[in-house]
Amino acid sequence: MSLEDQTTGILYVVGLGPGSAGLLTPDASAALAASDAIVGYRGYLDLIEDRLAGKTIVGRELGEEVERARLALELAEQGRTVALISTGDAGIYGMGGVVCELAARVGTTAELVVVPGVTAACSAAARLGAPIAHDWASISLSDLLTPWDVIVRRVNAAAEADFVVALYNPASRKRTHQLAAVADRLLVHRSPETPVGLVENAYRPGERVEIVTLMDLALGKASVNMFTTVIVGSSRTFVSNGKMVTPRIYAAKAPIQGEVASRDEAMTSRAAGDQIMAESLAIIDCELGPEPTDPAERAVVRRMIHASADFEFAGALKFSPGAIDAAVKAFRGEGPSAGDRAVPASVITDVEMLKSGVRRDLAEPLGVSTFCLLNHSQAPRIAADDAITRSAAGLRLAASEVGDHVVVAIGNAPTALEETLRLIRETPWRPACVIGIPVGFVGVEASKQRLIEEFSVSGVPFITSGGRKGGTAVTAAVINALLELAGSTPRTRPVAGG
Ligand code: SAH
Repeated sequence: MSLEDQTTGILYVVGLGPGSAGLLTPDASAALAASDAIVGYRGYLDLIEDRLAGKTIVGRELGEEVERARLALELAEQGRTVALISTGDAGIYGMGGVVCELAARVGTTAELVVVPGVTAACSAAARLGAPIAHDWASISLSDLLTPWDVIVRRVNAAAEADFVVALYNPASRKRTHQLAAVADRLLVHRSPETPVGLVENAYRPGERVEIVTLMDLALGKASVNMFTTVIVGSSRTFVSNGKMVTPRIYAAKAPIQGEVASRDEAMTSRAAGDQIMAESLAIIDCELGPEPTDPAERAVVRRMIHASADFEFAGALKFSPGAIDAAVKAFRGEGPSAGDRAVPASVITDVEMLKSGVRRDLAEPLGVSTFCLLNHSQAPRIAADDAITRSAAGLRLAASEVGDHVVVAIGNAPTALEETLRLIRETPWRPACVIGIPVGFVGVEASKQRLIEEFSVSGVPFITSGGRKGGTAVTAAVINALLELAGSTPRTRPVAGG
C-alpha cells in the first residue's frame, strides 16, 4: 500500500480543562475548531456547546469509554478530522489512554494527536492555594478498572513515603465507602490534623471549596461526590489564611517531624546540625530578598544574620572595595601581606570570646591560627603605663608578636579598634584586613567611622557595620564566612594558556 492510498484522517484527543472557557487552552480550542466531528460524553459536550455548530456530534453516556474511542477512530479512519473530548487532561484518567491502547491493539490508519489540558489536580490545587507544591502522587479510587487491593497498596505506599495525595474519582453515587477506608490507611502515617482540601466542580458552575482534616475524612464527615477532587496534605502541609500550602523552601530541607530520632544511627548529630543550618539559611535567604547580590558579600551577611537574627546588618554592613578578596587571599596564604611565603594569615581578636567563636573546623584545614593577647602577662603593664584599656594593650602586643600577615577582628572593644587604627597611622604595620564591629554606646560609632575615613589614607581593607550594633557573635560570623569562602573554590580561577 502506498502512502497515497492510506486514509489520513486525524483524531485529536482533546483535554478540555476543568470546564471554564478560560482554562480551555488555545491549542485545544484550535483542535475543536479544525474538527468536523466531535465525540464525547454528553455531559462534557455541554461544556463546549457554543463550539459545536455545524459539526457531526456523537454523544454517548458515561461508562461507554471504549465505544466512544472506537467510534472516534472509525470516523478518523474514514478520512475525517475528529475531536474526542475528555475533561481535564485527556491523558490523565481520560480518553487518551483508552484511544492509544485501542489503537495499539487493533492498529489504525488515522493520525493520533493528543492535546494536553489542565488536569483536576492542578485546578483543584489552584483553588486551595499550593498544596501540591512539593512531591505528590495521584490515585484514582474508581475500582471499575483497578482492583481495590491494588488501590490500597498504592495508598499505603504514598502514605508511607509522605507524598501529598490527590484523589480522583473519590466517590460515585454507588461507591461511597472507599474514601473513609483510604483515610484510615493514611492515618497510619499521618496526623489526624493533616489538612485535606475538597474541591467540587472546580472552575464550573456549582464550585465548592472546603478544607477539612484527615480525621473528618476518616469519620465520613466530608462531603464528597464524583465531581470532587480530594487533596490530602503531607506531614508538612499547613493551612494559613485559608490557603492550603505544602512548603517548598523552608521545610524542604528540614527533617520530617520525628524523623531525626528514628534515623539516629544513620544520621550523626553533625549532619542534623547541618540540616538546621541549611534550613536557617533558606529562611534567611527568603526574608533577605535579592540584596546584596554579590555572592561573597551575601555569604557574609547571611552568616551575620544567622548569628543575630537581626536583618538590619544587611543594610548596615560596609565593605571597602576588595575587602573580602583581601581577607580570603590572606587566609589562603596569597596576597600582599603574605609576601613570598605561602602561609595563611592569622586572626587576631580583641577578646577571648571572639577567639572562641572562630570555628576550628573551618580554620584548621586552612592552617589559620587565632590569637588573643588580652591576657598576656605584659598586657596589664602596657595598659597602666600608657593609660589604655587591656583590650587595646592586647591588640598592640598581638601586632608586634604576630606581625602584618593578619586579619584583625574587633567584636567588643572600640578602644582596640582605635589602637589598630593608631598603629596603622603611626607605624609601618599593615594588616591584610580589619573587621571592626565593636558593640556599645561609648566610642563605638566614632571608632567605626574612623575606620571608614582612614581607609582613603591607609588603604587597609575593612569590613564594618554602622551604628552601635555589633558584638563578638556577629564578628565571629564574619570571620567564619571568610574562612568558608577561603576554603571553597577560588573566586577567580587562573586562566589557562594565555
Ligand atoms: N481527565 C480528568 C480526570 C477524569 S477522572 C482530568 O485530568 O482532570 C474524573 C475525576 O476527575 C472526578 O471524579 C474528579 O475527581 C476529577 N475532576 C474532574 N474535573 C473536575 C473539576 N472540575 N473539579 C473537581 N474535580 C474534577
